[in-house]
Amino acid sequence: MGTQQVLSNQESLRLQYALRHRAQELGWRDADIEVIDADLGRSGATSTWREGFKDLIARVTLGEVGIILSYEVTRLARNCSDWYPLLDLCGYRRCLIGDRDGVYDPGTANGRLLLGLKGTISEVELHTLRGRLTAGLLSKAERGELVQGLPMGLVRDTHGTVMKHPDREVQERISLVFAEFLDLGSAGKVLRCFRDRGLTLPRLDRFGEVVWRTPTDGMIAGVLKNPAYAGAFVYGRTRSCETTYASGKPVTGRCPMSEWKVIVKDRYPAYIGWAEFERIQAMLRDNHAEYSRNQTRGVPRDGAALLQGSVWCGLCGHKMTVQYKGCSRYVCNFLVRSTG
Ligand SMILES: [Zn+2]
Repeated sequence: MGTQQVLSNQESLRLQYALRHRAQELGWRDADIEVIDADLGRSGATSTWREGFKDLIARVTLGEVGIILSYEVTRLARNCSDWYPLLDLCGYRRCLIGDRDGVYDPGTANGRLLLGLKGTISEVELHTLRGRLTAGLLSKAERGELVQGLPMGLVRDTHGTVMKHPDREVQERISLVFAEFLDLGSAGKVLRCFRDRGLTLPRLDRFGEVVWRTPTDGMIAGVLKNPAYAGAFVYGRTRSCETTYASGKPVTGRCPMSEWKVIVKDRYPAYIGWAEFERIQAMLRDNHAEYSRNQTRGVPRDGAALLQGSVWCGLCGHKMTVQYKGCSRYVCNFLVRSTG
């Protein structure tokens, strides 16, 4: 089996072409050159890149790779938490690593030192870049100048001024959600109240047109929890440090209000006062704590309903609760809760 070259790059076809050309210059045959066609600069975190990288590692391990060429070694390292193991592996398998500046042999002390340094520097560089970007965003946010997406009910005119949606019905329906919550005390009750009275909620469709939809618990909560309705510009309601990957997609965690990075009050016309907004958040938190306490009673207990907390609904997959009225039975509350 002939030695095969694997090229990695991150830019454009032009760069791929340049790399291929470079490999040829270095004496490899065209048929032996393979381009890993992944935009490493952008897709560093995605599984496509990881697949390509795993494949590369496997082939280096098998001794099939003679040289890894990258437009910039730092870019390769930046996307790669396994940079040092890769250097070890390449050193052991006598696989060279090259970039625009030169060709390095990770099997030698000098090559390894240089590549190791390049990796370290790229880590620092990335850290600095991220920091600068975040600092820029934050200072803009602190001045309240960051142009944010607005929730239904707030619109930006051509001069960039934010005002309430001109449609009175839209305004009144959003105000009603807050009024009913303060009156009834739970999002679930607001939902039922809306449903019972056949009231819909305004949404924006993908063309930016107002459509009226039967509310769900998510829609009600979305209104109640959005600080923009209290007139506040808020930045950093989510945090990426708690990002988890469920089914391969990043899920970003929501911060509690006390950890929001920037809060600039009185930026938008308000549907509700800030004090009331804070009160609503506290009530929602209490309701949620109570709800999870009930949900997590997972231990089988005495009584007729032995499977309390251990039965899941076969239709929707949610945990079922026990009803003791009359005779004991298991009921699924999910649809009642989410759609009233
Ligand atoms: Zn169910």
